[in-house]
Amino acid sequence: MDRIVYLDNNATTQMASEVAQIMRDNESLYGNASSMHSCGRDAASAIEWAREEVAALIDGDKSCVYFTSGASESNNTIFSTFRDLIDDGSKRNRIITTTIEHPSIIEEVKYLKKKGYKIDEAPVDVYGKVKLDVLKSMLGDDVALVSVMWGNNETGTIQDIKEIGRLAHECGAYFHSDATQAIGKIKVSIRDCNVDYLSLSGHKFYGPKGIGVLYVAKNAPITPFVHGGHQEKGYRAGTYNTLNIIGLGEAAKLAREGLQEEHDKLLALRERLRKGIEERIDHVVINGHPTDFLPGTLNVSFPNAEGESILLYLDMEGIEVSTGSACATGSLEPSYVLLASGLDVELAHGSIRFSLGRYNTVEDVDYTLEKLPSIIEKVRRMSTRKEFK
Ligand SMILES: *Cc1c(COP(=O)(O)O)cnc(C)c1O
Repeated sequence: MDRIVYLDNNATTQMASEVAQIMRDNESLYGNASSMHSCGRDAASAIEWAREEVAALIDGDKSCVYFTSGASESNNTIFSTFRDLIDDGSKRNRIITTTIEHPSIIEEVKYLKKKGYKIDEAPVDVYGKVKLDVLKSMLGDDVALVSVMWGNNETGTIQDIKEIGRLAHECGAYFHSDATQAIGKIKVSIRDCNVDYLSLSGHKFYGPKGIGVLYVAKNAPITPFVHGGHQEKGYRAGTYNTLNIIGLGEAAKLAREGLQEEHDKLLALRERLRKGIEERIDHVVINGHPTDFLPGTLNVSFPNAEGESILLYLDMEGIEVSTGSACATGSLEPSYVLLASGLDVELAHGSIRFSLGRYNTVEDVDYTLEKLPSIIEKVRRMSTRKEFK
């Protein structure tokens, strides 16, 4: 293959060279950060530096930053905390979330519902925005937790987080947001969003995989999520993954320093791709919100074309994208996020997510625009449906 164009940055990102470098430079920090000798203390102080960098990225307080193995763990932890509170007899025994969360919440919710916990999902509109009036009607003094993601990984739609947080607090509930996709793309400020808990993940913003954060505001409840040692004030046991934490700290620093530039660059590439597709290909549908979207995400439906076929033909040209399908199960179910937004099943089947990142170029976009039209034509020719709805 002469060319690889990686347009799947919402699935994971390439580690920044600065991140890889700082991890190599700190290889000598093999000490257990909990040890009292200097080798341990050096590791501990590097971890505290990273904690400060993460806090600075989100305008948060460093004492509220808990390191986890990633956003899946952070998300699960919030729900298990509230399960514990409900088990302990809390009068507030209901949780509100949405139909478009990441699987690490969707599946956790399914599991808890099976166990008998009361959890309701707020619906979204055609743009994937949570319907605030419906959400409002679901809230009450029995609600313990509201959990709504910041920006969606498939459509890129950004929620009205500050307002949702205000509504949650108005009824006395705590508010959690999975900000994994928003971090490094748009400003995420703890000071300005009415959020009590926030999840984020290193590998979605050019940091290492297997490391993330759960942010827990000062007065918000949390129960220990890994029992054992005294790490993370006794809440999350396990010897510190020092190098990954340092890498995450560097990724946070880069994201903070380059935020505006990165935002503008991703937005320009995304718009170039969107306009190019609309000019070159008939009958396309752009999914997600027309203005409130993550700058690098472009989700497009190509009617009368199978998403997986498009993906495979693009891959043969070195262009790497994603569909929202659960193809890992072999069932080729269309994206639940698009279906939840009311998209027609066939349109959902023909949808492709292009997610641009820091290392993409104008040439990447133009190469994609050169290859895509003939692929769509070919896949549409293979389709049994010929009429456009
Ligand atoms: C990737 C992702 C996660 C999971 O993060 P991991 O660190 O891989 O567990 C959670 N939420 C969203 C929105 C994501 O995009």
